[in-house]
This record gives sequence, C-alpha cells and structure tokens, in this order.
Amino acid sequence: MQTCVSPTEKRRIVIAGGGYAGTTLAVRLGRRIKPSDDVEILLIEPNPCQQALSELDLVAVGPPRPEFCELWLPTIFKDLPVTVCYNRVHSVLPDEHAVLVGPREGPHEKVPYWRLVLATGAVAFVPPVPGLKEHATTMWSVHDAQELQRRIEGQFRIAAKTVDREARVKALSFAVIGGGATGLEIVGTLGQMLPKRMREHGLDPADLRVHLVEGRPDILYDLPESLRKKAKARLAKLSVQLHLGSMVASVDETGITLEDGSRVDASVVVFCGGAKADPDANTWGLEVDPSGRLTVDESLHASGRSDIYAIGDVAAFRDPESKRTLPMLAQFAIREAEHTADNLLRELRGGQPEPFHPHMHGEFVSIGPSWGVGWMFRWHLSGIPAIVMKRFTYAMYWYEVGGLRLAWKRLREMLAMQR
Ligand SMILES: Cc1cc2nc3c(=O)[nH]c(=O)nc-3n(C[C@H](O)[C@H](O)[C@H](O)COP(=O)(O)OP(=O)(O)OC[C@H]3O[C@@H](n4cnc5c(N)ncnc54)[C@H](O)[C@@H]3O)c2cc1C
Repeated sequence: MQTCVSPTEKRRIVIAGGGYAGTTLAVRLGRRIKPSDDVEILLIEPNPCQQALSELDLVAVGPPRPEFCELWLPTIFKDLPVTVCYNRVHSVLPDEHAVLVGPREGPHEKVPYWRLVLATGAVAFVPPVPGLKEHATTMWSVHDAQELQRRIEGQFRIAAKTVDREARVKALSFAVIGGGATGLEIVGTLGQMLPKRMREHGLDPADLRVHLVEGRPDILYDLPESLRKKAKARLAKLSVQLHLGSMVASVDETGITLEDGSRVDASVVVFCGGAKADPDANTWGLEVDPSGRLTVDESLHASGRSDIYAIGDVAAFRDPESKRTLPMLAQFAIREAEHTADNLLRELRGGQPEPFHPHMHGEFVSIGPSWGVGWMFRWHLSGIPAIVMKRFTYAMYWYEVGGLRLAWKRLREMLAMQR
C-alpha cells in the first residue's frame, strides 16, 4: 500500500481537511516553524485543490471554468515544509493517538500523531421534503456548481428548440430555495448573469423567470433591516420574484408546491437551505452537539482531549460573549485556524494554548457578481462598495495562502468574470 508517512522521531501534527481552515493552518504553521521545533506537518485532504466555496456562485452561472474557485494545493505548499497526503481520514483513534487514513472501503494506514487538528468542514443539508433530494441540486461543492451550470445549459437547449412561448418560459424558469446568504448569492448571480448568457444562446431574456422561495417572512435574517430592504430592492431590479413566508411542501420536475398550495414553476431548482457538519465526525468517538458539530473548549480542543483540536465548520465553538455557537463561515474558519496555529507553536515551544476570542468585524453578501450588501464595524454598505469589500476579503485570503502572485492572478480572473 502507498504510504503517507515515513518513520520519524519528530512530533507530528496531523491536519484533517484542506479547506479554508486546514489550508490556513498548514500554511501558517509551515511558514513559522523552525528546525529546532522538531516537528512534521502532515495535511490530509482527498482533493488536490482547495474548493473556495464562497466563490461558487461565480462558477455556477459564469463561463464553464471550475478551476476558477479551486486553489491548487501542490502550488500552495511547494516551498513549505508541509507534507500533503491526498487521501482522507477514515477514523480517529483518540486513545491510540492515531488516525486511520484511507478510502471508506479500505485498506487503511495507521498514522500516529502528536497533535491532531480536525477541519473536515460541512456538507449540504437536505431536509426530507418530498421530491427535494431527487429534483433539486445543492450548492456546497464545485461539483454542485457544475451540475447547476449543466442543468441551466440543458434548459437553454430545450428553450432554443421550443416554439410555444409559454413552454419556453417554463423551460427558462429557475428557482432557488433559501433566503440566507448562500441562496441570495446564487439567485442574485442567476438574475444578473442569465440574461447575458441567454443572449449568447440567441434566447430572449424577456422569457427568463427567476424565483426565490423562503419559508420565513424575510430574507437575510443576519443583516439589519435597512440592508435587507436594500437587498430586496436589488432583487426587484434583477426581476427576481420573491415568495416569502411559505414553506416548501414538495418539489417535482416542473417546480415547487408551497405549503399554502401555491405553485412556483421551475425547470431547475437549487436548494440552499443549510449545511450540517461533516457526518463522519459523529463516528470518531468524540463529543458532538445536537446538530452534529464537534464540541470544543475555549482553546478549540475537542471536548476532553488536549491533543485534538477541531476548527472550522465541523466544530461548534460557543462564543463566551454572545453565548451563541459561531455560524459556519469562512471568516471564522480562518481565524480559528490562525489561532490554532499560534497555539500549536506555543505548545511546541513549551507554552500553553490560549483561549480563542472571536470577533466579527463585518459580513458581506453578493447579490450578483457586481453588487453587494453588508456591514463592517459600524458602517452599513450596499452596491459597489460592499462588493469591493467582499472581494477584498477574498483577496486577503489568497494573499495569506498564496502570496501576491496568487492574489493578483485571482483578482484578474474575478474581474474578468464580472463582465
Ligand atoms: C455557496 C457558498 C457561499 C459561501 N459564502 C461565504 C461567504 O461569503 N463568507 C463566508 O465567510 N463564508 C461563506 N461560506 C461558508 C464557507 O465556505 C465555510 O464556512 C468554509 O468553507 C468552512 O471552512 P472549513 O475549512 O471548515 O471547511 P471546507 O472549506 O468545507 O473544507 C473542508 C475540507 O475537508 C475535506 N475533508 C472532508 N472530509 C475529510 C476527511 N475525512 N479527511 C480529510 N479531509 C476531509 C474536504 O475535502 C474539504 O476540502 C459559503 C459557503 C457556500 C457553500
């Protein structure tokens, strides 16, 4: 069997998951360790690319370039003392201080660790609504974004062959379920980009219908009301039809039936109703909260385990100030990773881990590639300033993990996507 590790006397830090959290942690540790730290860093991630999930909306409706939201890990770690093993952590053996690495069906390699960091993220959550799983796509991976793109292109082809106007409009009706940030980003991109794509296919944008369905009475509950109003005005400008305050009863191949009995015609349905922690985390013998996230203490140690940390979406960190569990956001995944890297460096050099103090300095949601809404410190922003801030936070991340070259390359790609 191919092996991830060579025999070593060094202390080994194993990081499971190379998403926002795992990549940030491995890069920061790789840049800061010294030979005297006598440590080996092993990142275990099944994909050779980090999927930049917060940029998926651009792939879903943009030109077919999935690599746009994938960061190539071999390039990121080219010059860093980090070994990347393109495999998955199958199980955790906390009492043996080891993980089993390998595909679900085996074989598995036992890899001992000095410290383990679990950063395996989350998956899309699909509730048991009749027809939802069969007829809707989710939006939690590059594969999902490509699937949406494939379905949209398929509908373009059907519409192009259809003479009857009503049938053409039905073929060109798209619906997003979920009025949170993810749903707004997808529906906004559909509203802004599809007219252009349709013209490219010789179709009339007047035949396009885009719907947003949300069970609660309003959208974007995490944002202040003034910003929610602006977001709704933007959706109206993009001709997105809102269906608020009615839950989805069922989904079929021609659309959505709401609990109040009304119908939303849609040939393509995207479900953006939430996420749940990596389901495998439940099988690792560690404590999880009722939603399935790994519980952690104030220093991000998995409950009762001083040699295991859990960070990012898979971990449920309870903010001691707000008494709320942190939401699944890249900005928290990144900060938890930076803090954990610093704690590991302290531990390597004989110190003690310090508690994590999360701060949310802002939040931005794009509604279409060139418009946004959000807040930062005390300021509320909308339109171009908000989208610039959102893209700036991406650029900061690219700069952190890949330096100026990556940040510049990706900024150029992103600007090209806006056109
Ligand atoms: C469409 C969309 C838009 C979003 N927009 C924003 C935004 O604008 N701002 C924001 O802050 N957040 C946003 N988010 C949320 C953000 O993407 C997540 O909070 C973030 O990805 C969490 O980072 P993570 O490292 O915990 O998990 P991920 O980035 O999901 O990484 C987890 C990694 O673990 C790997 N993995 C899984 N199982 C195993 C295993 N057994 N062994 C080894 N590796 C494993 C996976 O392959 C993956 O690479 C968005 C999410 C989506 C889906």
